[in-house]
Amino acid sequence: MAKQVQSFNAEIKQLLDIVIHSLYSHKEIFLRELVSNASDAIDKLKFQSLTHASLLPANWEPTIRLEGNTQDKTLKIIDNGIGMDQEEVVQFIGTIARSGAKAFAQMNEEMKNKPELIGQFGVGFYSAFMVADKVTLHTQKAGTNEGVLWESTGDGTYSIDNVPRPFGNGTTITLHLKTFQEEDEVQDFTDPWVLKSLVKKYSDFVAHPIKMKGEKDDEVLNSQKALWLKNPSDVTAEEHKEFYQHIAQDFNEPLKTIHYKAEGTMEFSSILYLPAKKPWNFNMRDTEYGLSLYIKRVFIMADCKDLLPSYLRFVKGLVDSSDLSLNVSREILQQDRQVSLIRKNVTTKILAALKDLISKDRTAYENFWSEFGATLKEGIPGDAANKEKLKDLALFHSTTSDKMTTLEEYIARMPEAQKEIYYITGDTISQVSNSPYLEKLKEKNYEVLMLVDPVDEWVVNALTEYKGKKLQSITKEGLNLDSEEEKKKKEEELKTASETYAPLLTQMKKTLEAQVKDVVLSDRLTQTPVCLVSSAQDPSAHMQRLMAQMGQEYNMPTKRVMEINPKHPLFAKMLKAAPEQQSKWSEILYAQALLNEGSSIPDPVKFSQQVAELMVQAADSGKH
Ligand code: ADP
Repeated sequence: MAKQVQSFNAEIKQLLDIVIHSLYSHKEIFLRELVSNASDAIDKLKFQSLTHASLLPANWEPTIRLEGNTQDKTLKIIDNGIGMDQEEVVQFIGTIARSGAKAFAQMNEEMKNKPELIGQFGVGFYSAFMVADKVTLHTQKAGTNEGVLWESTGDGTYSIDNVPRPFGNGTTITLHLKTFQEEDEVQDFTDPWVLKSLVKKYSDFVAHPIKMKGEKDDEVLNSQKALWLKNPSDVTAEEHKEFYQHIAQDFNEPLKTIHYKAEGTMEFSSILYLPAKKPWNFNMRDTEYGLSLYIKRVFIMADCKDLLPSYLRFVKGLVDSSDLSLNVSREILQQDRQVSLIRKNVTTKILAALKDLISKDRTAYENFWSEFGATLKEGIPGDAANKEKLKDLALFHSTTSDKMTTLEEYIARMPEAQKEIYYITGDTISQVSNSPYLEKLKEKNYEVLMLVDPVDEWVVNALTEYKGKKLQSITKEGLNLDSEEEKKKKEEELKTASETYAPLLTQMKKTLEAQVKDVVLSDRLTQTPVCLVSSAQDPSAHMQRLMAQMGQEYNMPTKRVMEINPKHPLFAKMLKAAPEQQSKWSEILYAQALLNEGSSIPDPVKFSQQVAELMVQAADSGKH
């Protein structure tokens, strides 16, 4: 192949623009990114050689080498890892294949403020352009004889050529360092002392030796300590912080660290971290998650999903097992009994750590909950074995306090007369806290949990009771707030009222036949004239809206019962009105009920016209 010049795609051009022009002062992080890529490349070669021994050159010793040349102003990062063939160079280095356009836009935005996140975005290689005005990548894939030479000045194009690599498999990255002004305060990255201190700072626990030519012999700059194999009590918080930042690509400290060795029937070591903050891409559909898997210290894979239930996907960390066979594949892992035992064990540890956190540091737990609570809750419908534990870890918004509450705390506050745990689901706190369904409960001083995460509908379906108390939706049938005596009295009142209002109810039912199952009097409301109520078995209005958003519209939206508040002065007036007027007003009332619960109304224009018409009538009648 002759040398070719190709253009970066538009996304990389934009990214380069940000990276090159960023005034970010910690430009040194480029070294961490490139060393980490080199280390990954060595891990990949080691892993592949487990099944293809011929890939390893004779006497291969994994090495990452740094070569600074002060005269030429160059820095080389050299590894003898897996390398890349031409196709891979174009794919991995020339395009951003993984993130979609939307993810890219968000990444761009975040990068402007925080360039140090570059590694998180899977584009760490480009951080080289923070410090270099020309970057050369010379690589050769293990098992081939074809070298690939890639070069770019970050100006929108790169050249690519076939050139054999003298060292065989691996990758050499040469940075032609920019000239910085003194006031930029950028270190000299060809200075051995600078390189040494940067390796100590960012890459000390990289598992392979990072070497540099010393005065006589090669010098190894990193201690390569496999943190997880140490005795947990010997690892300092500082070491954990560094290690966490390395594996999670996060600049915050972990909220909680879990480091343990399982012994007995299963032998493995694990380090688990609960992050303090959500990563930028946490809620994106194809964001990878899972723990890194090592088998007898050999790195097998990152993001092993089989080691972690998906509702704990915010957890970062690793497992090093001595029981699994080195010849594993992703498919085998999925069915491996040992793996599922590890997952169970890891899950138990994480839930125990959360329980500890909620009991010892409520503020920290509430912060955790605001980041990951909606994810953790997925376990209530998703993990039957741990449902009870998860119930104790769930926090809820409540109508009686700004602070979030646990179910246990809620129960402790229940007045004696209250038998059930009440909740309402909806889109936002402001919407549900104004819901007319709350009126009567407020009057009785009953607390209501407000559930506004999309997942909550599934959560309450699974969370039917807590410590013997039933969870009852206040928007569904079966809400029973009164004592037997009160009930009797009210039934009688309602009976009399029903007789009085019978003609009106009939007319309303006729008008709204297509929309509602029935129109009945009720004592659910105290101030609002009407509301719509689902049957206990039917999905709530909120659930139906969620399903519609997911494109799973019900063929036939479930009809509900319209409940009328006979104490509202409107109905006495309506009773006396002509049937046509009753019908018109019924339509307006139906639309109001929809608006009150946060649903949209089918014909807003008609609704506005009807209201305007009423206003004119009201004004006219005022004149007489
Ligand atoms: P990330 O490392 O997060 O995937 P990068 O932009 O740093 O993102 O690298 C993109 C890809 O290029 C890597 O996933 C890897 O496949 C390949 N790559 C980068 N550096 C090397 C290297 N030294 N040896 C082999 N492959 C590499």
